[in-house]
Amino acid sequence: MEEEINIDPWRMAIKQLDKVGKILNIDENILKRLRYPVRIIETNFPVVMDDGRVEIFTGFRVHHNENLPNKGGIRYSPDVTKEEVMALAFWMTFKCAIVGLPYSGAKGGVICNPRELSVKELEKITRRYTHQMINVFNPRSDIPAPDINTSAREMAWIYDTYSMWGGHSALGVVTGKPVELGGSLGRASATGRGVFFITRQALQKLGIPMEGVTIAVQGFGNVGSWFARIIAEHGAKVVAVSDWKGGIYNENGFDVEDLYKYVFENPENENKSVTGYTKITKEITNEELFGLEVDILAPCAIESVITKYNAENVKAKIIAEGANGPTTPGADEILMKNNVLVLPDILANAGGVTVSYFEWVQGNDALFWTEEEVNSKLEEIMTRAFDSVFEYADECCTQDMRTAAYAIALERLVKQYELRGIYP
Ligand code: GLU
Repeated sequence: MEEEINIDPWRMAIKQLDKVGKILNIDENILKRLRYPVRIIETNFPVVMDDGRVEIFTGFRVHHNENLPNKGGIRYSPDVTKEEVMALAFWMTFKCAIVGLPYSGAKGGVICNPRELSVKELEKITRRYTHQMINVFNPRSDIPAPDINTSAREMAWIYDTYSMWGGHSALGVVTGKPVELGGSLGRASATGRGVFFITRQALQKLGIPMEGVTIAVQGFGNVGSWFARIIAEHGAKVVAVSDWKGGIYNENGFDVEDLYKYVFENPENENKSVTGYTKITKEITNEELFGLEVDILAPCAIESVITKYNAENVKAKIIAEGANGPTTPGADEILMKNNVLVLPDILANAGGVTVSYFEWVQGNDALFWTEEEVNSKLEEIMTRAFDSVFEYADECCTQDMRTAAYAIALERLVKQYELRGIYP
């Protein structure tokens, strides 16, 4: 019991790895290397706050392996830990391998609470963190991006700070930048759009029509809001949405565009929360959302929200993991037994890093694509990745898409390690 509740994401990631390593009989000499991040950078740095006080912040950057250039977002949260960043970097390695991107995993984090910080303070934190990482970030070897509580605004500060230090504009050093500064069209919606493509493929396989399918979305940030908007546009009914402050329910389905405006385009909604929205049937808690009678449950917020203590309550047929690590290994077993099709994070949310890759390619070549080009290339990659994982799951792992996704990624990673060998 203790173990599931307190399971830290890093132990969870290693558990997932060991399970697949065993099934595929992977060489222990390679598994060993995947169990240790190649590099962990931890830094404590001072920032002068608005009231003149000096505050010390702690930031991390983890490179999971270095077979290929490192790629991964930066998370701002009061709860972020080194182990969490290690797990997130690990998942990036697997995510990039599944969709076939030329990257190894990385992740960054800064312990801070953006809700209690002014824009000026956030800018100082971002610029100073970037400075601490000035010899770590690099267009050729470590390319950060947005994650929870960071967005195009923070990426612009990273781009500017790095470029000022280098004496030239380094378009390829960070992705998720504002479009005006070399960001890619379609990047902001990419993770949610990717979750949509994967969900659409799964519905097709299960023979469930998109029209009228019911969905509960946990988290209405970048991933959850875009996923909800796109899937609603295709005829699905988003009946429940929740965030850190609480949840809302309407059995007739929300007008998601209207909800989006209420959350993001309404200066009075300071917390950018779905709570307080009036066109609802009832308020619900996050816990109630997981047990709703819906077709699809989409956890799009943080780790470890579906555990062995609430997995039995899940009535959805499909879980679409927009978040990284939302389902613990204990919950996975229960969901499997109950025939819930889990679309694993490392596949379902790979759309973000895929369009980051497009942005990197465009930035390095100073050549820009239309939004249609971006979206259709994303669709092609996500659909292909889904098909390969689904087929593999069918053949090898009794419909366990997580194991299948890990297996495909692992086979590619093993090849990378073998080809590179061990230096010296
Ligand atoms: N933070 C996102 C993720 O978890 C995107 C990373 C990136 O674009 O590099 O996949």
